[in-house]
Amino acid sequence: MSSDMAVASSSRSPVLVIGSGVAGAACAIRLRSLGVAVDLVEKATFPRAKVCGCCIGEAGLNAFTQLGIRDEVLDLGMPTRRWCASLAGRRIELAIPLGVAISREVLDPLMMQAAVRSGANVSMNCTATIKNSSYDVVSVQLDQNATTIRQDYSCVVVASGLRSGNCGGLLPWTEVPHGPFGISMMASSVDVEPGVIYMACNPDGYVGLVKLADGRVDVAAALQSGQSSFATGDPVTRVQRILATSEFASVELSDFSPVMTTPPLRRSRRAGHGRVLAIGDAAGYVEPFTGEGMTWGMQGGMAAADLIAAKRNDLNDVGDVWEQKLAALLRCRKRTCRVVTTALRSPAACRIAAGTLRLFPGLATPLLRSMNKA
Ligand SMILES: Cc1cc2nc3c(=O)[nH]c(=O)nc-3n(C[C@H](O)[C@H](O)[C@H](O)COP(=O)(O)OP(=O)(O)OC[C@H]3O[C@@H](n4cnc5c(N)ncnc54)[C@H](O)[C@@H]3O)c2cc1C
Repeated sequence: MSSDMAVASSSRSPVLVIGSGVAGAACAIRLRSLGVAVDLVEKATFPRAKVCGCCIGEAGLNAFTQLGIRDEVLDLGMPTRRWCASLAGRRIELAIPLGVAISREVLDPLMMQAAVRSGANVSMNCTATIKNSSYDVVSVQLDQNATTIRQDYSCVVVASGLRSGNCGGLLPWTEVPHGPFGISMMASSVDVEPGVIYMACNPDGYVGLVKLADGRVDVAAALQSGQSSFATGDPVTRVQRILATSEFASVELSDFSPVMTTPPLRRSRRAGHGRVLAIGDAAGYVEPFTGEGMTWGMQGGMAAADLIAAKRNDLNDVGDVWEQKLAALLRCRKRTCRVVTTALRSPAACRIAAGTLRLFPGLATPLLRSMNKA
């Protein structure tokens, strides 16, 4: 695969997947394993950094197994076995099932290469825009290397993340005002233990830290938005403040780059319509505290591929069926995440949770299990 590969213009009208993040790549790999022809287009040049905590738990490892890349991911990542939180001024440590911390500069190219090996027709530096969708075809504009072409597809999977557009007006976003926003950076001189996921919380938000295989530390946070929050300082100062008030005595942020931020995180949309389906962050967002975004993206990508393969001769309402399926798949998990993240913003709830978990760490097991559902 070359980065300047021309976009194939085929008469077979395969499925198009827009975006080669974890969700899009997983969907493309699964489609190929089910014998469905697929074009996968990605607007970025890899490797690219991305706002992310880079932690994947047991269910994510199961998804990698299904995609045939578990060993590669574990070889290139840092295994994680402990979770250490600073809640309401108390430090809690829990053993967690084996997971992995892996930077998006490493993971996304690895998954994209797996998509190439699976037989997907992959084009990098290629931006896709849905122009029109009718009963029997979706028309897409593809821009690559100053060349624009129009291509018709029998089905389009939108996996273009939080910043994806309105998909030709088919899937408009609903944003919650003053929801949190994400920020992340890589730090080179933070003294944290390998294999441990650190999480510091206060009412302004939470910050996660994890050591990567190359020695850098990924720092990812979700901070409150709104004028009163912004008045308390710039995002990096606020991250420093949360860490300074944590129980992680040795953590001091210096020597970090680059600082990346996200648009408001709390957003939702219809996840499908007609021949268009949305997966991963492009289908709506759940707060990042519990770190399931990538796993849900991969699971959703594979489930969407299964649906497309099952309906390959009758795709005109695949998006509407997907909308129902995805809601059922994620309803319970989204509720758990919302309860946890809301509780973390309440100092009283944090104090009670911290005290209880210190005395009875086993109580965390059902929560961890529910969040790691494969
Ligand atoms: C602060 C924070 C911390 C997080 N921590 C974790 C964590 O520890 N663990 C975890 O599992 N999740 C975490 N997440 C969530 C996780 O980052 C996302 O859920 C995940 O990246 C979603 O993957 P995706 O494939 O849907 O989208 P993305 O990874 O955003 O990929 C979308 C891709 O589409 C491409 N694209 C966009 N538009 C177009 C276009 N028009 N044409 C072609 N290509 C396009 C983009 O370039 C990009 O490569 C965190 C999120 C935040 C904000």
